[in-house]
Amino acid sequence: MQSIKGVGPKTSVALKSLGIYTKEDVLNTFPKRYTSYFLDDDMHIKKGTLIKPPILSRHKVLKVTFKLQIGDHILSCVAYQQPYLKHILVQDEPYLVRGKFDQHKKIFIVSQLKPIKYENKLISVYDVAEVKDYRIHQMIQSILSEAIEDTLPVYLRDQLNLVSRHQAYQWIHFPKNEKDIDEALNYFKVEEAWHLFKGIMPVKKRQHMKLTQFNDFDQYLYKLPFELTEDQKKIVHHIVSDAQKIYPLKHLIQGDVGSGKTVVAFLIALYFINQGYQVALMVPTEILAIQHFETMQRLFPNIKSVLLTSSVKHKKTIIDNIQHGLVECVIGTHILASHDVKFHKLGLVIIDEQQKFGVDIRKNIIQKALDQDVMYLTATPIPRTLLRSILGDTTIETIQTLPQGKQPIKTISVSYDALPGIIGQIKQALTHAQHIYVVVPAIDSDHVTYNILHTYHVLKSHFNEDLYVLHGQMPKHEQKTIIETFKKSSKGVLLSTQMIEVGIDIKTATFMVVLEAEYFGLSQLHQLRGRLGRGHLKGICYAVSKKPEDERFKLLEKTSNGFEISEHDLYLRGPGDLLGKVQSGLPPTKFLDFIEDARLIQKTHNIYKNMK
Ligand code: ADP
Ligand code: MG
Repeated sequence: MQSIKGVGPKTSVALKSLGIYTKEDVLNTFPKRYTSYFLDDDMHIKKGTLIKPPILSRHKVLKVTFKLQIGDHILSCVAYQQPYLKHILVQDEPYLVRGKFDQHKKIFIVSQLKPIKYENKLISVYDVAEVKDYRIHQMIQSILSEAIEDTLPVYLRDQLNLVSRHQAYQWIHFPKNEKDIDEALNYFKVEEAWHLFKGIMPVKKRQHMKLTQFNDFDQYLYKLPFELTEDQKKIVHHIVSDAQKIYPLKHLIQGDVGSGKTVVAFLIALYFINQGYQVALMVPTEILAIQHFETMQRLFPNIKSVLLTSSVKHKKTIIDNIQHGLVECVIGTHILASHDVKFHKLGLVIIDEQQKFGVDIRKNIIQKALDQDVMYLTATPIPRTLLRSILGDTTIETIQTLPQGKQPIKTISVSYDALPGIIGQIKQALTHAQHIYVVVPAIDSDHVTYNILHTYHVLKSHFNEDLYVLHGQMPKHEQKTIIETFKKSSKGVLLSTQMIEVGIDIKTATFMVVLEAEYFGLSQLHQLRGRLGRGHLKGICYAVSKKPEDERFKLLEKTSNGFEISEHDLYLRGPGDLLGKVQSGLPPTKFLDFIEDARLIQKTHNIYKNMK
């Protein structure tokens, strides 16, 4: 830092405490805002040229005195407690001073001073503790007096009409006008998108793996207790044939909850295993991991699969076995991405509910695969434009048709007046040995009447020993026990927070009551109701709220198309909220807004893709 002109040890320490260590860090300290120094009340403003170097005096008070030439006059000026003016005032330069003339002492008392060249210009404001803006300006100016290396390829800059990196820094810190700022921002957005693409989606051809036909496909199909739907078949064939091409797989399977994505993922896993590679299936919760593992074992007992979560027994042995290739398929939570877990020959990574994982975790696990083949599964319908921004050139496969026998879910929006009637219906359903979910938005928050605590008391009097409670503050093992007992019981009511959104698969669940429904997002409600109708029983979901006529609830009653719902979510609640929802799937960005800048991202991506 001290190699920058004007930076001494003191400033350097102050900067370090702010995390600013290098010249690059200084440049990347972006302005918080801009102000204009067009000074309007010219009563107290004088313009003049500095005729002599200023004098700093520490006698009694700290003051800087200097003289400005204004036309034929000379104006004597004094500035109190602004010792730095001594360093920024340059002889023969013009300045604007603002203040009051002291008639008695015949001296102009300066409260504000700016170089004239800033008049009418935008001045960047940094609001950095301990380091004054003028210091930052000085440092940046000094850094920018040297060349700055470009990090973007020329063809990208040409095609998108971008300024040079040097120019972008110049304009973001010292803009002449708004247009400069926009041009600079545009540059930084593209730069960010470009590095994002390079980081999370390297364009690489296959290097290690060679995949051939899926020979035993029919034999595996035969083992399934049902026939694949047309969509499922099409997707399996498509992915298997893509895998044999020169690029690694990067596919996303999108389909409503219960549309049968798991089976498709399993079949692709079997294909890779068949070709001699290991497969890792990573899911966001332990509950879901157990469920997938059990399904895998039930459907394909000959496959050597293991469950790996942070709470499994004999973890060390399992990890050893994975590393030594004694295991073909590993199903687990984010622990799969940790450095301790090494694979023998990992061919394919499958990530369920990808939006629940941050970029780093996804990157860490994908990097373990030989050619970085990856398949994402998601039930959260994210608008396509947004998806492209997040996952780039991923091929999106959509399962539209529900498996045969799957019942569409009926959604009914009601007010609290309907509650007694609903409780009666639940009682009725329990006599038919069914499972019921009651979902509330909070555990003990005062903002909602129907939190877990209150609702528990309401339900307890009706359902007594048939009532189960589940929420995120319970210890993990307790959660597991509750889910297991609820699942094994012949009937019951499960009171829960939105925890059940992902992954609980109970075929006899027929009924769901969402209380305080207005506290849930549209897509969230859609996810929640997807817990129903997973067997052959028809599902009913009551959304109970104070505003049953709300257009969001009406839409849920009308459609079960996840895409339509997510587009509406985007439209009704605005990108901010939606981004909040899918945030964990989005990389953190400084400049890019995945919705607002979707087109710019798309353009950048097209150029990136064609680079290979
Ligand atoms: P998703 O992961 O898409 O939410 P799952 O793969 O868990 O859905 O499937 C939901 C349920 O439907 C599972 O119980 C599964 O066994 C069943 N299922 C999947 N495909 C079919 C099919 N083609 N025919 C009948 N049932 C199916
Ligand atoms: Mg699933």
